Amino acid sequence: MRLLVVGSVALDSVKTPFGEVKDVLGGSATYFSCSANHYTQVNLVAVVGDDFPRKYFELIEEAGIDTKGLQIKKGGKTFRWSGYYEYDLNQAHSLRTELNVFETFSPHIPEEYKNAEYVFLANIDPDLQMEVLNQVRKPKLVVGDTMNFWIENKKESLLAILKKLDIILLNDSEARQLCEEYSLLKAAKKILSWGPRIVIIKKGEHGALLWSSTGEHFSAPVYPLEEINDPTGAGDSFAGGFVGFLADSGDLSDENIRRAMIYGSIMASFDVEDFSLNRLQNIKKEDITERFQELKRITHFEELKETISKEE
Ligand code: AMP
Repeated sequence: MRLLVVGSVALDSVKTPFGEVKDVLGGSATYFSCSANHYTQVNLVAVVGDDFPRKYFELIEEAGIDTKGLQIKKGGKTFRWSGYYEYDLNQAHSLRTELNVFETFSPHIPEEYKNAEYVFLANIDPDLQMEVLNQVRKPKLVVGDTMNFWIENKKESLLAILKKLDIILLNDSEARQLCEEYSLLKAAKKILSWGPRIVIIKKGEHGALLWSSTGEHFSAPVYPLEEINDPTGAGDSFAGGFVGFLADSGDLSDENIRRAMIYGSIMASFDVEDFSLNRLQNIKKEDITERFQELKRITHFEELKETISKEE
């Protein structure tokens, strides 16, 4: 029982310049699970209504994700999110967020999940993130994510959960909004002063940056793609590769955390190729390995040249 995730399981309606889908499987915990699941066993804690389509249950179960912690609320309506992207896919525009069953959700962690060593608090009400964390016994690593919706509506609760995290993931606009700082370095320093020992700022198609309280800094590139259809879930897929790989390897050294960032970047690259979970559910180990080698090849460069021959 290594990896536990709590977050949203949703029905998403999304429009991008490349297509449109209605009421398809989404949610922060869903994307995370379907990504992390390529590395390790994932135990999912969330809630859906009894309107949640059977085919989506089957998809989650067939992926091998443990759903003992996925509650079905009788008579309840599943969380729904709708949004769109302009030609700049880095910025999601939320149209509607219907919390529905999450409004009254009280997460109950199955006994066998309480010993989870790795915990991912996916984007959800920070009060719910705290409720989950309070039930877990002695995790080795707690990683969390959030978004503008909670920064605007639950800032106090968000700051309280930040104190409990080892690693926080958020995107550049959220970091700027949360810290009221334009410089991402200044924002990262501020966030580190609030509790986490590592902050990872995702910059959409421009990669992701890591800063740690020990001064470690790393920049992960994105995998260059020809086919991009829908960036929804890219952040959660990144988190899935990142935490899933760390949970599987059990190695939290700086070098391995850098490697985990690359796995994160790779999983995000698969996600954006298609809508919903369509691409993520169809990848194989070889696909991941191939992208890892390619990223290593295109970002490698040689040592500093001893001298520059041009005279000053
Ligand atoms: P991402 O693109 O990685 O930031 O995450 C997209 C997913 O987050 C979508 O599938 C949504 O269902 C989900 N989502 C959107 N808003 C919220 C919210 N306020 N709380 C929890 N999940 C959300």
